[in-house]
Amino acid sequence: MENHSGLTCPFCQSVMKKGFIQSGTRLAWVPKVSKLSAEPSLTKGSVLLSEQSRFSINHVDAFLCESCKKVVIDYEGNEQEQ
Ligand SMILES: [Zn+2]
Repeated sequence: MENHSGLTCPFCQSVMKKGFIQSGTRLAWVPKVSKLSAEPSLTKGSVLLSEQSRFSINHVDAFLCESCKKVVIDYEGNEQEQ
């Protein structure tokens, strides 16, 4: 483990780059892709990552690992309770 303030990749232990995922629609992790709408539907088991807002740019904090091409998203406080 390296002593950096950033997140360490859980797969390869490299230091991950902090940034954001930005989207024109809301962002959600879904157990199943909806074929009815381009926007993710918030069904049971879905996790809303970032709600679309008229007043701010829709984004969520994300950490990027450039060596194994993975992204880790922190969704604390955004979990759906359904
Ligand atoms: Zn990695």
